Amino acid sequence: MADHLNMEIEEEDDYVEYVPVAKRRAIEAQKILQRKGKSEAFEEEEEKIKLVEAKPSLLVKASQLKKEQPEISHAEQVFQQEKEMIEHLSDKKTLMSVRELAKGITYTEPLRTGWKPPLAIRRNSKKACDAIRKQWHIIVEGDDVTPPIKNFKDMRFPEPILKKLRAKGIIQPTPIQVQGLPVILSGRDMIGIAFTGSGKTLVFVLPLIMVALQEEIMLPIAPGEGPFGLIICPSRELARQTYEVIEQFIEPLMESGYPELRPLLCIGGVDMKSQVDVVKRGVHIVVATPGRLKDLLAKKKMNLDNCRYLTLDEADRLVDLGFEDDIREVFDHFKAQRQTLLFSATMPTKIQNFARNALVKPVIVNVGRAGAANLDVIQEVEYVKQEAKIVYLLECLQKTPPPVLVFCENKADVDDIHEYLLLKGVEAVAVHGGKDQEEREYAIAAFKACKKDVLVATDVASKGLDFPDIQHVINYDMPAEIENYVHRIGRTGRCGKTGIATTFINKNQSETTLLDLKHLLQEAKQRIPPVLAELNDPMDDVDAITDASGVKGCAYCGGLGHRIRDCPKLDHQRSQQIANSRRDYFGSGGYRGEI
Ligand code: AMP
Repeated sequence: MADHLNMEIEEEDDYVEYVPVAKRRAIEAQKILQRKGKSEAFEEEEEKIKLVEAKPSLLVKASQLKKEQPEISHAEQVFQQEKEMIEHLSDKKTLMSVRELAKGITYTEPLRTGWKPPLAIRRNSKKACDAIRKQWHIIVEGDDVTPPIKNFKDMRFPEPILKKLRAKGIIQPTPIQVQGLPVILSGRDMIGIAFTGSGKTLVFVLPLIMVALQEEIMLPIAPGEGPFGLIICPSRELARQTYEVIEQFIEPLMESGYPELRPLLCIGGVDMKSQVDVVKRGVHIVVATPGRLKDLLAKKKMNLDNCRYLTLDEADRLVDLGFEDDIREVFDHFKAQRQTLLFSATMPTKIQNFARNALVKPVIVNVGRAGAANLDVIQEVEYVKQEAKIVYLLECLQKTPPPVLVFCENKADVDDIHEYLLLKGVEAVAVHGGKDQEEREYAIAAFKACKKDVLVATDVASKGLDFPDIQHVINYDMPAEIENYVHRIGRTGRCGKTGIATTFINKNQSETTLLDLKHLLQEAKQRIPPVLAELNDPMDDVDAITDASGVKGCAYCGGLGHRIRDCPKLDHQRSQQIANSRRDYFGSGGYRGEI
């Protein structure tokens, strides 16, 4: 009985409640779902973690980026900085007329002239042209550059011009003439980089005479009309000199039966009425300084409706003297496309940028590195104490026979030296911006005619002026800007002759200036005086920067002893800009130094 009972209890213990199949299935399904849900939630959780991991903080990101970036070398950094500086300098001032800018007028094709080189030269292969350029040390840039021509006859100038050239002793063209003349005669825009005394005046004067002749023959100019061509110069002296060269070629043309061409010298310091009278008769060629030209145009005494040829001579000087806005205003007076030519012995990047928009497919013709000194000049540099300079100058004057040019930075020194030399019995004259036009003209004419032995001058006389056969240039002080030094010593050693330049230096010069001088002397293979050799030269470490940027030395002024960020010229110009803005604030201004 007992066993029976036990069995019953055991049976009761094992009892499992009956669950209908449908319900069991539902329970299983729920369990599966629950399991799935858990793993999904787990996966979601994991996903979230991953996301958090994939979104690092900005700091982490920045450091990651830094790690990922390739190491930028010091040279590349400097190159980048310089690039930004140049872009900043050039973006505000480009040369374009406001009218053309406003109307969106751009010219894409160069002007065509009827001129062509002789067939034999046209048939010259590119290789043959390159060989000539190499032989004459001519570097060209640009599309479809006109072939170089090695003699004036093949340039197809009329006989009276060829005769005049011969009479002046100009038999063989110089390198800038070999390449520059064909380029301009064919109508192309051009940037000409040539050291002073290289014969560049003829490169823009002769084609302009041809343009004026051609236009005059086709449609003679009427009273009040003209000019066909315009040359803008930075100084009155340079304008006068260019004007005189034009006159020399116009006369024999007229004598040989060619039409009369009337040039006009349009400069300040001269009665405007006489200039207006020439315009009234009809003028073919105008040589001008920017101020007077702007005046005549603004007063509607003259127009540029027929003008199709523009030259900016000493373009770097024009920009340095602050004539950019004046030139831009002159541009507004052009009614149609013109052939634009830019000339300078030095051509820093900023000038090329300034002119970029004004030129149509320009050809750059470079004879000698822009900014390099003329290799025909023996450059001597001497350390002379400030107080000993004036006495030593007298000794220096004995080095060569006259004529000798003496340059100083400021007007007071010019006057002091002039007086001292006169007292010592030296036949000397002086020019600087403080003297009136008549005095300046007398001094230059007397010196040019060899009636006076020594000309003492500020930089106003240093650029572009052609004093034949100067034996010796003395820099009474070293100019702060190396470009001025190049222009000054370029007064001697012209057209293949050898000249001497003596430069006094002392503690008054900045190290940057002296370093520029040292590099220039090195480049021209001249003797380096110990005082320059001893200078600590930071440029020794910057070959890598040059490699990165492709620019040797300073991209702004062309000096080889520094980079653009240490440029004394840029510094000077900035401080001048600040001074000018102050001047405007006080309501005065308009003073333009030496001009
Ligand atoms: P420029 O560089 O234009 O100021 O010229 C300097 C001097 O060189 C001037 O007196 C010119 O008459 C002279 N000249 C120009 N071209 C030649 C040439 N092809 N051969 C000799 N002298 C020249």
